[in-house]
Amino acid sequence: MAAPETTVLVVEDEESFVEALIVGLKREGFRVKAARDGEEALALFDSVQPDLVLLDIMLPRMSGLDVCREIRTRSRVPIIIVSAKTAEIDTVVGLEVGADDYVTKPYRLRELVARMRAALRRVPPSLDEDDGGVDAIEVGDVRLDAGKHEVHVRGRRVDLPLKEFDVLEVLLVNAGRVVTRDMLIDRVWGANYVGDTKTLDVHIKRLRAKVEDDPSIPQRIVTIRGLGYKFESS
Ligand code: CA
Repeated sequence: MAAPETTVLVVEDEESFVEALIVGLKREGFRVKAARDGEEALALFDSVQPDLVLLDIMLPRMSGLDVCREIRTRSRVPIIIVSAKTAEIDTVVGLEVGADDYVTKPYRLRELVARMRAALRRVPPSLDEDDGGVDAIEVGDVRLDAGKHEVHVRGRRVDLPLKEFDVLEVLLVNAGRVVTRDMLIDRVWGANYVGDTKTLDVHIKRLRAKVEDDPSIPQRIVTIRGLGYKFESS
């Protein structure tokens, strides 16, 4: 059996595969969450924080390779790429975008589970996913380097307290997309956060004072009424 609470995010658009994987993996003791396309996968990834991702390459709208790259900007979680035929993916490409392993369809569940367990064993315990991406993120004239814990706006260093830094990181990783208030709170304060949600408003206000030209007319961190915030990518 898998270790308790080992959660797998299955990203797959073919319903027959999804059903078979859910049944098979649950029988092996995994918790299973499934996404049918790349965007759903990224949203679920943030809310579920899985221990491993099984990622189909051919997905509607957003390719599995792009999903893989995107996940790698925020986490070192083991990713196993699943492709329908060998021709769909060059192994090297798969590994270049940060995947840990790949499996070709049709595969046997037993083989897949063996590879999943191997990938899970390879995760160094010190590298937990909260230490952010390994590379700097740059959106427009805002640059965030998680490794050095530095932020530059228009080339000028800006000092940010830890939580403001974390909020900015989540927004930048998702630049151009709406980040819901719940997702921001989950990612920065943890899923069990019970404090006042005004805390987030305060952090956004302070961030704007540091990254906006005119904080009263935000051009970078914009409010999406009723949903959350978006970091403008253009
Ligand atoms: Ca597919």
